[in-house]
Amino acid sequence: MLKIGCHLSSSKGFLAMGKTAVSIGANTFQFFTRNPRGGKAKELDLTDVAAYRAFAEEHGLFPILAHAPYTLNACAADEGLREFAGNTMADDLARLEHLPGSMYNFHPGSHVQQGAERGIELISSLLNEILKPEQTTTVLLETMAGKGSEVGKTFQELRAILDRVERSDQMGVCLDTCHVFDGGYDIVSRLDEVLEEFDRVIGLSRLRAVHLNDSKNPLGSHKDRHEKLGEGNIGLQALEAVINHPALRELPFYLETPNELEGYAGEIAMMKAAYREKEA
Ligand code: FE
Ligand code: FE
Ligand code: ZN
Repeated sequence: MLKIGCHLSSSKGFLAMGKTAVSIGANTFQFFTRNPRGGKAKELDLTDVAAYRAFAEEHGLFPILAHAPYTLNACAADEGLREFAGNTMADDLARLEHLPGSMYNFHPGSHVQQGAERGIELISSLLNEILKPEQTTTVLLETMAGKGSEVGKTFQELRAILDRVERSDQMGVCLDTCHVFDGGYDIVSRLDEVLEEFDRVIGLSRLRAVHLNDSKNPLGSHKDRHEKLGEGNIGLQALEAVINHPALRELPFYLETPNELEGYAGEIAMMKAAYREKEA
């Protein structure tokens, strides 16, 4: 069965997200752990979490994907900003233990003139500080479009981070179709080759989730502008090949397309219809 959902607002709590997900035909979802621009997280409502867990069990909503605020920069030149990123992520991870076995995705960061090499060093040492042996959450590095000085625009950069993380068994990768296409990986005409390269450089066993987005811009444009499925430069045919690819088809897919709930429901239905169930 296709595991698919979309990004949902977390403002009304977990049970509300679970119910929304089910109402639009989703069986998983992504949410921001706090205001995407950072800042303090609301106190966790444990009654809501307990109610959500019962609901999720009943509706098969596991695993879900938490997304760190995108303004955090784990490789900022400023030590205070790095510390803020580390503290925020550590706090998110502690809270996520109330939802055991979740995934936590973050943007590796922007090195801003320090060079990718230094960025990689800073990101991995921050991860080495916050990953705890008892933690059940898998932390995912997101593949980036390479806008500005983003680290993670190549598979090699992600591999370099993973290589330096001691508890790398707690780490994985989230592949964003818009970002890799923007980063110059031609998933439209060379999906097999791109995935072979991913396997060679990072290892497909590291791949835990896919952000399923179309792109407003052409291959290699490094702009990071998502588009509705089928309305961008990736196109429906390529996105359908992604969800059906033998190396990807068992992974959870998350839409981050410019949509309201109704639009998401439509895209989810469209992808479900395009998914080829395995013959018994
Ligand atoms: Fe993201
Ligand atoms: Fe994404
Ligand atoms: Zn993006």
